[in-house]
Amino acid sequence: MKYDVVIIGAGPAGSTAARFLSKEGYNVLLLDKEKFPRYKACAGGLCKHIEEFDYLNIEKLDLVESVCKASLTFSPSTRYEMSYESEDVLFYNVDRKEFDNYLVGIAINAGSDFRDGVKVKEISIRKEYALLKLGNGREVKSRALIGAGGANDVANKFLRKKEGIKRWRLAFSLVEDFEVGESFVSDVYGEKSKCIILLRFAGLHGYAWVFPKRSSLNIGYAGYLEEMRGRNAKELLNQFLKFLKRRNFLPSSVESKKARGAFIPCRGFLRKTYTDRLLLCGDSAGFVSPLSGEGIYYAMDSGRIASKVLCEALEEEKLDEKSLRNYQKIWMERWGKDFLYLKIFHHALMKFTEGIIKRGVENKSLRGLYVGVFNGSLRAREVKWKILREILIPKRHEKIG
Ligand SMILES: Cc1cc2nc3c(=O)[nH]c(=O)nc-3n(C[C@H](O)[C@H](O)[C@H](O)COP(=O)(O)OP(=O)(O)OC[C@H]3O[C@@H](n4cnc5c(N)ncnc54)[C@H](O)[C@@H]3O)c2cc1C
Repeated sequence: MKYDVVIIGAGPAGSTAARFLSKEGYNVLLLDKEKFPRYKACAGGLCKHIEEFDYLNIEKLDLVESVCKASLTFSPSTRYEMSYESEDVLFYNVDRKEFDNYLVGIAINAGSDFRDGVKVKEISIRKEYALLKLGNGREVKSRALIGAGGANDVANKFLRKKEGIKRWRLAFSLVEDFEVGESFVSDVYGEKSKCIILLRFAGLHGYAWVFPKRSSLNIGYAGYLEEMRGRNAKELLNQFLKFLKRRNFLPSSVESKKARGAFIPCRGFLRKTYTDRLLLCGDSAGFVSPLSGEGIYYAMDSGRIASKVLCEALEEEKLDEKSLRNYQKIWMERWGKDFLYLKIFHHALMKFTEGIIKRGVENKSLRGLYVGVFNGSLRAREVKWKILREILIPKRHEKIG
């Protein structure tokens, strides 16, 4: 067989897995249906954990357009404005088209065979190999597969069908990059590249945001998919733009031209992410923070974990699901358990938003706690009681909600 591993999707999950497997000497085919460099709807905020991937040299990387060290969070009524500043990095901001292309380049340099513009149409798992049917009519065999095709991955559908998993709930988001010029960005958003968050924008279970880049602003919003029924997605974005203009966060001449919709699988990971000869990584497995919607780091980390597990399995020629179960154990221990608490925090935040932000405005250490949990720098399981006590138990004389 020509390939040890075929990877579906060359986003952060797929490229990272390809890089690690190729470094270990395995023959890897990395496939993507789009021609690269390709657009990816995203705010492009990389959390601080990205520094773990030291080969990226993120602190010195030219692709990083801005480093966010401050945030301004509005409660839904906009009555409370919670401002936070840090000496430390909250997010590194990148353009996904360039960043993902850079990751693919790293995988190619490590030895991966990359083919873009090739769609995987169907997968099947046989006793001796995995088989892919491609959009160009060809077929590819490999010893193992990684599904890293994002929220609508063909491998996700295959595994859910096989395991009878019906639940796959998504969030919807609309996003656009607005070119406003470097001087506007630096005058208004400052040297700490302050990001803006408006919680429960338009009543949605989610938030609207502004992530300032070098000379542009990434602006968007997200909410549960079913909440969008009967609502005009573009109208909602215009509503947010109007708010930003009123507050002088956006030049009045700027209009929406090419907003793009996308799904975010941030409402819980799949209960099973492995089967015979197949592992799911990144969005395909639902590895997105239920609180912030951040998924790039988790995509890359799951790609790294999958590659480690597959290296051992390929070495020992044990690619049955029992042998691959270790994959789920490792990611669950690293951050999967935190996701369970982040989901609870998300529900609490969506229910008691005004009161929670009001308390953050009044209490500096609480602000640090909120932001740390939101951007993933604090582990949810370590601060869970502190957070739950603070956000769920109203202080005397204080009404929340
Ligand atoms: C609007 C928005 C804003 C976001 N903002 C942030 C943020 O600021 N920070 C953050 O950390 N996360 C953010 N996320 C989440 C983040 O984008 C994802 O978690 C991340 O891209 C997941 O990476 P991935 O490699 O799993 O999938 P993807 O990046 O989606 O890559 C999947 C790849 O697979 C390819 N593919 C799909 N199907 C096939 C097929 N059948 N055959 C071949 N190729 C296929 C696609 O073309 C794509 O290139 C945001 C998401 C959205 C929608």
